Amino acid sequence: MSHPVSSPEVSSSALNDLNEAERQRIQAKSALFAPPTPITDDGRRELVGLSREELADVLTEIGEKPFRAKQLWHWIYHQGVTDFAKMSTIAKPLQAKLAEHFIVGRPSLTTQQTSKDDTRKFLFRFRDGQEAETVYIPDRREDRGAVCISSQVGCTLSCSFCHTGTQKLVRNLGAAEIVGQFMAARDSYGEWPSPKGETPRLLSTIVLMGMGEPLYNYDNVAKAMKIIMDGEGIALSRRRITLSTSGVVPMMDRCGDELGINLAISLHAVRNDLRDQLVPLNRKYPIEELIAACHRYPAASNSRRITFEYIMIRGVNDSDEEARELVRLIRGLPAKVNLIPFNPWPGSDFRPSTRERLARFAQIIMDAGYSAPIRMPRGKDILAACGQLKTQSERIRKHAHSTQQSDVSDGE
Ligand code: SAH
Ligand code: SF4
Repeated sequence: MSHPVSSPEVSSSALNDLNEAERQRIQAKSALFAPPTPITDDGRRELVGLSREELADVLTEIGEKPFRAKQLWHWIYHQGVTDFAKMSTIAKPLQAKLAEHFIVGRPSLTTQQTSKDDTRKFLFRFRDGQEAETVYIPDRREDRGAVCISSQVGCTLSCSFCHTGTQKLVRNLGAAEIVGQFMAARDSYGEWPSPKGETPRLLSTIVLMGMGEPLYNYDNVAKAMKIIMDGEGIALSRRRITLSTSGVVPMMDRCGDELGINLAISLHAVRNDLRDQLVPLNRKYPIEELIAACHRYPAASNSRRITFEYIMIRGVNDSDEEARELVRLIRGLPAKVNLIPFNPWPGSDFRPSTRERLARFAQIIMDAGYSAPIRMPRGKDILAACGQLKTQSERIRKHAHSTQQSDVSDGE
């Protein structure tokens, strides 16, 4: 496999062209796993997940004025109302007409478990029966917390340490399903209407670190994040959203330009030979290209650093030498490092690094001037910790043929 974009002779416009071609290939592949159109069995259209323009369009289709979109947006995303009859600024006859054509739904909750440490895991079921997990991780000291959202059911990548990676990609989640996870988690804590401005929020940050690779479902993820960031609705700042990627280099540029959200990189190894094994996508986009894309990432600054996630696996990637190499790799970047002791799951042979190793590794990074907190697993007792998510959903047979072929052809 060639890696032409890492060559220093390649000009920036040639790099753009290469990346553009690669982006198109990624998006064409992503379309094979598109979610079903969000329409109920009785033909009603789901309004959650539509952009403002699309919302105006569907209203025009039923003979209503597009300005109604603003009113509906407020009820759906600011007030969190799902019942048209409760939209009190809308006249009764119009409420009835809206209910005839549309719904404001949520994914249905299959199970909800709350851990000893208050982490809460939701298993959501979507209209076609597929399922994905969402986790709320409360801050230990303050009344705020992170919602960890899934972007796909399963994952095409098969990182050797990750439970989700053992589940084939079933399909991408749609914008409605991605926003819906956040809204349904918020229902569970009753946090409506959306707090305005800097008013404290319980569900205060979003991390796209659940099941799946968000940059392999870019369009739906981007649409969902734009809805969540819209100032007249949920209004969560782009500074409070972090997308984690295993390193889909060509899509990182787009994500930075269009969304400006924070970036987390699942690094896990500092040498290509080891990273090729742990994160097989590295064979396509090796470490040098990944780091170069981080240097280009427009939304990064000293106040908004790129997070490098590093799972500490005993005897595999946790030596002093590797810590020093890690520091060398991130030098010059506004960066911080999250050290995550490997979370075991049934069937994996890896073990977490020892406490002493973790402390020593962290110290080397901190001595170089970077923050390197050790992230103790949360929600371990309910299998909600990083890399432990997996559902029973399976790919339906008619998809199996085409997708298996593409899996084999480029090892993603
Ligand atoms: N696909 C994206 C986002 C989802 S994975 C990515 O890989 O970044 C979310 C995070 O969980 C990643 O940092 C991943 O490396 C980490 N993770 C996966 N398996 C883990 C495990 N067994 N123990 C600890 N962290 C794990
Ligand atoms: Fe997919 Fe991320 Fe798990 Fe790798 S770590 S298999 S990219 S979800």
